[in-house]
Amino acid sequence: MYILLMGPPGAGKGTQAANLVKEFSIPHISTGDMFRAAVKEGTELGKKAKACMDEGRLVPDDVTIGIVRERLQKSDCRKGFILDGFPRTVEQADALKSILDELKINLTRVIDISASKDELIERAVGRRICKKCGATYHVKFSPTKKEGVCDACGGETYQRADDSEETMRNRLSVYEQQTKPLIDYYQKAKLYSRIDGSQQIEKVYDDVKKSLDV
Ligand code: ADP
Ligand code: ADP
Ligand code: ZN
Repeated sequence: MYILLMGPPGAGKGTQAANLVKEFSIPHISTGDMFRAAVKEGTELGKKAKACMDEGRLVPDDVTIGIVRERLQKSDCRKGFILDGFPRTVEQADALKSILDELKINLTRVIDISASKDELIERAVGRRICKKCGATYHVKFSPTKKEGVCDACGGETYQRADDSEETMRNRLSVYEQQTKPLIDYYQKAKLYSRIDGSQQIEKVYDDVKKSLDV
C-alpha cells in the first residue's frame, strides 16, 4: 500500500499514520519528523529548515524534494509507505510523480483529513509529543495517564515550538495558499478521498480503512 496523507496542520495525519503503521507494518515517512530530527542533530539540513519551521513557512521545495527522493529510494519502501505531510506544493507533487514513475510505484490512495480552523488550532496548541519515542498526545483529547510522561515508554513529553496559536495561524494560511491546490491535483488523478477528521480518532481510522478498501 502506497498511501499519501494530506490535510492541514493539526488535522490528525500523524495520529492516523501511527494506526496504519501498527496494522500494516509499512514505513511512516513524515517530512516534519525528518526536519525536526535534523534540527535536533544540528545538521546542515536542520539549519536550513529551522528558520522556516519556526515561522510556520514551508522549507524550500528543492531541499524537501531532495530528502524525500533519498528516503523513497530505500528498499523498505518497496512494499509500501505512508507519506505524511508531503507533498505540500504543486512542485513537490510533480516531483513525487517523477520519483514514483522511476521506482515503478503507483499511489494507492491520497487521503485528505479535514477539520475546522478552530479544531485545528485547539489540536495543535494542545499537542504533546514524547521526546524519546515520538508518540503523540493531546492534553484534552488524548492525554497521557500521568501528566508529562509518555504512556508507551515513560519518556518526557514536550510541546513543539511551532504549535503556538500565532504560528499555527501562519501555518494555516500557508496551507490555504500552497497546499490546498493539491486537492484538485489528486482529484484529477482519481486518487483522492476526503475524510471528516472532526470525528473521534477511532472513527476517523474506520473511514481511513474504508477509503483503502481494507
Ligand atoms: P497532524 O500530523 O495532522 O499535524 P496530529 O496527528 O499530530 O496532526 O494531531 C494533532 C493533535 O490533535 C494531537 O495532539 C492529536 O493527539 C490530536 N488529535 C488527532 N486526531 C484527533 C481527533 N480525531 N480528535 C481529537 N484530537 C485529535
Ligand atoms: P503539521 O502537519 O502539524 O503541519 P509537520 O510536522 O508536517 O506539521 O510540519 C512541520 C513544519 O515542517 C512545517 O510547518 C514546515 O515548516 C516543515 N515541513 C514539513 N513538511 C514539509 C513539506 N512537505 N514542504 C515544506 N516544508 C515542510
Ligand atoms: Zn514515549
